[in-house]
Amino acid sequence: MRKKIVAGNWKMNTSIAEGVELAKAIVAKVNEVPQGVSLIVAPPFTHLTSVAKVLEGSPVALSAQNCADQPKGAFTGEVAASMLKDAGCAYTILGHSERREYYGETAEKLITKIALAFENGLKVIYCVGEKLAEREEGNHFDVVSEQIASVLFGLTPEQMKKVVIAYEPVWAIGTGVTATAAQAQEMHAFIRETLGTHFGEKVAQETTILYGGSCKPSNAQELFACPDIDGGLIGGASLKADDFIAIAKSY
Ligand code: PEP
Repeated sequence: MRKKIVAGNWKMNTSIAEGVELAKAIVAKVNEVPQGVSLIVAPPFTHLTSVAKVLEGSPVALSAQNCADQPKGAFTGEVAASMLKDAGCAYTILGHSERREYYGETAEKLITKIALAFENGLKVIYCVGEKLAEREEGNHFDVVSEQIASVLFGLTPEQMKKVVIAYEPVWAIGTGVTATAAQAQEMHAFIRETLGTHFGEKVAQETTILYGGSCKPSNAQELFACPDIDGGLIGGASLKADDFIAIAKSY
């Protein structure tokens, strides 16, 4: 069975104290989450060590939201994958549409970042998703398959075990507009088929594919009921422990 995951991307929100309280509230309710559903939280870099202490001994895993494309050295303002591991991270998100859009995250950089994440024992939540205009032009499948092929097709089937894919249509992120369950399922099935064509059916069937984009307690159940949706990457709704847990309980 594929791993089911609900991951919270806190983005650039919360003070350290607020983040610690949020993590504590999530840990306090983690027992309510159905067995087989794993929780991950991705706070800002500055919060990682404090949140790691809260998560210690709990089943909630820690993720970063990005990592540097260099191992170490004179790269002012960057945070290396080794530092994230040192801070207690098990995962890093990579390729989020906000990073692609505002910080020039290219396929080339993402390939390097994924390699560094793996070298340092981190798993990767790799985000893909089309913009509204691309969907309206009917190019959404081409865009997503290109994002997968250009970055993931250089990996081995063994390395793919350390990759979770998050399908996040850009037009649904932070907009309150969620993809319909049918739209999300259609793309998830397409992603799985794309993986199957390159890596074979085993990798395709074993890869966890999350949906992201205005996922909330009121729509999570319908989305998670789809056969190819293995959980969610949650932005706004992950900032409230009750909503985050309610989403995870939607299974
Ligand atoms: C995200 O950016 O990863 C995300 C899913 O955001 P939101 O849930 O706020 O749309």
